[in-house]
Amino acid sequence: MIAKMLQIFALIIFLYPLPVFSKEKAARDWVIAIDIGHASFAGGANSARGRNEYEFNRDIGILVQKELVKHGYSRAFIILDPENLGLRTKIARKRKVDLFISFHHDSVQSFYLKTWKYNGKNQKYCDMFQGFSLLVSTKNAMFKKSLLLATILGRKLKKNNFLPTHHHAVDVPGEKHQLFNQSLGVYRYDDLVVLKTAPMPAVLVEVGVIVNRNEELQLRKPETHRRLAKALVESIQEYQHTLAPGGPQVNSPGGEGISQRISTPPPPPPLRPPPPTRPFSPPPPPPPVRM
Ligand SMILES: [Zn+2]
Repeated sequence: MIAKMLQIFALIIFLYPLPVFSKEKAARDWVIAIDIGHASFAGGANSARGRNEYEFNRDIGILVQKELVKHGYSRAFIILDPENLGLRTKIARKRKVDLFISFHHDSVQSFYLKTWKYNGKNQKYCDMFQGFSLLVSTKNAMFKKSLLLATILGRKLKKNNFLPTHHHAVDVPGEKHQLFNQSLGVYRYDDLVVLKTAPMPAVLVEVGVIVNRNEELQLRKPETHRRLAKALVESIQEYQHTLAPGGPQVNSPGGEGISQRISTPPPPPPLRPPPPTRPFSPPPPPPPVRM
């Protein structure tokens, strides 16, 4: 009798696979916001050759969104040119976004900058630092998941031949930011508006340092854009798989409703600047203030 009932049950399962047996939310169900940092009317930092950051952010963001759609994330969309910062996460909230990724390109503190001539114009540059940074906020409602995504992203970026910069952790005015993960370039930036107001996991990607003359050239190459987009897509796939029911999961003392199966990144180290990875000499003192 029991054997017979089991047979019938197996037949029902075979004929009507229930959604509970589907392991992962499909890629097409994920809503991913690609936030293009800054705006056409306020372009952010200037590169060593005078191109504004917004244009770098836009190139990358558009490619990443296209690649995500190509890989099944058909609900990935771009946030471009909103009137103010707060509107970015408002849009994301309204569209019930699962993941918020903001693209930026980095600069350095002004006392590092030197002047050179490019195309007959004076431009500012600094060749001391290069590499990516991944910023997360502990004030984000989904901080643990944000940190998980940043950690996966750091690993994938390194696998795709990108290296992190540590200049935001150096003990100089305006920096001294805590590194959650030094080798993966994951930093704590609690008060960035888009990170702390996003009600969903959020990471801000500083793709590279555009005031570095060599890195700027690399960051303009389509081949670099392709590698970055590849790392991004791979990261989201791995993140999605990690959070899938039955998949490896993340430790969640933050009460985000995830069980404990894989370990989270190590706890934040004490606030101490790491040894710089590139030749680094202490910065010159800030220039005297002209009255
Ligand atoms: Zn920026």
